[in-house]
Amino acid sequence: MSGHRKDWTNILFLCLSPVAGIVGTIYYASRFGVQWWEPALCLTLFFAIGLSIGSGYHRYFSHRAYECHPAVEWIMLFFGAMALQNSVLQWARDHREHHRFVDTDRDPYNINRGGFWAHMLWIFYKEGPDRNFDTVPDLTRNPRVMWQHRWSRAIGIGFGLGFPALVGALFGRPLGGLLWGGFLRIVLVHHTTFFINSLAHMWGKRPYTTENSARDNWFLAFFTHGEGFHNFHHAFPSDFRNGIRWYHWDPNKWLIQSFRATRLARNLRVTPPPVVENAKLRIAAATTEERLARIPSGMADDLRARAEHARRRMDETLRLWKEADARHSELKAARRAGQRPPSQAVREMKLRMRACERSFRATRQEWQAALERFRDAPAGQSL
Ligand SMILES: [Zn+2]
Ligand SMILES: [Zn+2]
Repeated sequence: MSGHRKDWTNILFLCLSPVAGIVGTIYYASRFGVQWWEPALCLTLFFAIGLSIGSGYHRYFSHRAYECHPAVEWIMLFFGAMALQNSVLQWARDHREHHRFVDTDRDPYNINRGGFWAHMLWIFYKEGPDRNFDTVPDLTRNPRVMWQHRWSRAIGIGFGLGFPALVGALFGRPLGGLLWGGFLRIVLVHHTTFFINSLAHMWGKRPYTTENSARDNWFLAFFTHGEGFHNFHHAFPSDFRNGIRWYHWDPNKWLIQSFRATRLARNLRVTPPPVVENAKLRIAAATTEERLARIPSGMADDLRARAEHARRRMDETLRLWKEADARHSELKAARRAGQRPPSQAVREMKLRMRACERSFRATRQEWQAALERFRDAPAGQSL
């Protein structure tokens, strides 16, 4: 939680960096032109640092959505520090509180205090004196995290500004490097991250949960390496993915999958598909309640009966899926323990789980088709 004392370092930096990054870069480009490596440097650092925030600060350190090699930790800690968004210790603690107390006074970037508060105003205040890191013992035990906590600002300024200036110097334009790869990139990474706390709690759909203000927004996802699928993320925060379909733009998900492919990460946490489908169906069913009041009673009864049928079918399939999943885990554990379970049994379990997943999707589609029929029906008319 923020205290009442203003943090003038943060205020000045957050107000002046856009002047240097946007106005300064435009002025420099208009006077001296643009060389190809300047936008390339900006974009490369935007991805390297933005992905370290998304895959590292957020999905790994805040949510423990997977396990990874210490070398990966180091890289993400180093590049993450260059974002100048606090140390991971502070970032992850604040973010865990955001999830735990979302939309309340104890949420550091509570959207109910206004979009601008959630976006960046909350950073304008110093922390209260009672703030500490007691709530994140897993992070305080990690020596790499504690090292980064000590040095994150120095890395952010020294390397975050020094490295692009050095690259610029190699091309004979240190100021060009500093503006494009330093200040403009800082502003872009800052505000795309901040958009998740502001716009992704205001603008978009809520297909998985309506218990909080988080929204799914593919447009924001495009600029935030996939973090814009924020409604799914708040519903299932420990999932390593935010965009769950293969076509959802989620470079953080792809990066983590590439870590797994190269054995740098393991135990990627995935929400079972039936659990996701179940959440979606429940939201679809709940949102029809308001519509039921507006349509003739015969139609409303029919829709209610369909909803009840879908819900029962979903519950039954979820039960069957859980049974099959538990049996599948037992067989896998037995195999790890050196026993050889009959491969026929493993195959059968997998087939049963897949059949349940198909049934889930069919139930949801059946339910959505029914909704379509009722959606446009004017009050007072029968089908
Ligand atoms: Zn959120
Ligand atoms: Zn999160």
